[in-house]
Amino acid sequence: MSTTPAGEAIAPPSSRPYVGRFAPSPTGPLHFGSLLGALASFLDAHAASGRWLVRIEDIDPLREQPGATRQILATLASHGLQHDGELLFQSQRTELYRAAADALQRNGMAYRCHCSRSWLARHGGIHPATCQPQADPGSPAALRLAVQSAPPSLFEDRVQGQYQQLLARDVGDFVIWRKEDLPAYQLAVVIDDAAQGVTDVVRGSDLLDNTPRQQYLQQQLGLRQLRYAHIPVIADRQGQKLSKQTFARPLDDAAALDNLLAALDFLGQQRPRQPRSVAALLRWAVDHWRIEAVPRRLALAGDELPPSCRLFAS
Ligand SMILES: [Zn+2]
Repeated sequence: MSTTPAGEAIAPPSSRPYVGRFAPSPTGPLHFGSLLGALASFLDAHAASGRWLVRIEDIDPLREQPGATRQILATLASHGLQHDGELLFQSQRTELYRAAADALQRNGMAYRCHCSRSWLARHGGIHPATCQPQADPGSPAALRLAVQSAPPSLFEDRVQGQYQQLLARDVGDFVIWRKEDLPAYQLAVVIDDAAQGVTDVVRGSDLLDNTPRQQYLQQQLGLRQLRYAHIPVIADRQGQKLSKQTFARPLDDAAALDNLLAALDFLGQQRPRQPRSVAALLRWAVDHWRIEAVPRRLALAGDELPPSCRLFAS
């Protein structure tokens, strides 16, 4: 068993009680793609007799849509996805994130960066080991985590299998505090997963390549490592991931049973025969959940989609 810098023993995730979570951003109503993530994490948590938390990732006021949080919670409720414990709002936790960012800066792991977007674009969007020589020191600064000495990252994803990344080559020094004086997603997610005792992350494969950044941050902050499972995302006929940005249609709360059955089909799970209610369907699905049956694919599109899901990708 390894220890944190403070000497605290780190229990392997499997020996701790399971805590899972669903963490939507209130940038719009939930669509079918978000339901897949919510349902998969809910079923995985309950099948392990664990807890399932919901966290609202509202740290980006520039992208927020008024009323979206209320809509998201109503949709989760109509689909029977009742969370355990209190709702957590990231917008109320800025000072915690700031303290972690300050600590990383103090110990030399993070540094202020004034590089312009256009200069970074000329480097393929990957920040090199040193900043733009002629950056304007009067411009707002971001805070970046130094990854040049990070060892190669390798982890076993429960759905996708082995995943490797070299942070310095594939990502570069990355932002943990934004120029707009807002905490970056990578930092907030790591702090909150630790604070909430999360052991298992089940989410869409579009976040698979973010995982090594989060694991490296966990190591730098002396936090526990988590287990990860990245489920395939649903793509439209052009192979584009469905997202709020591509105007995926909002879920119809009145069609919760059909939405959940289609999500079970997508996730490679058996479906109950004629479930009488959303609650009965979810109980059945928890009892029959097999993460091994989830397609080991990054995305499904077009003819690969079960017929029940095609409506959602049109
Ligand atoms: Zn820079």
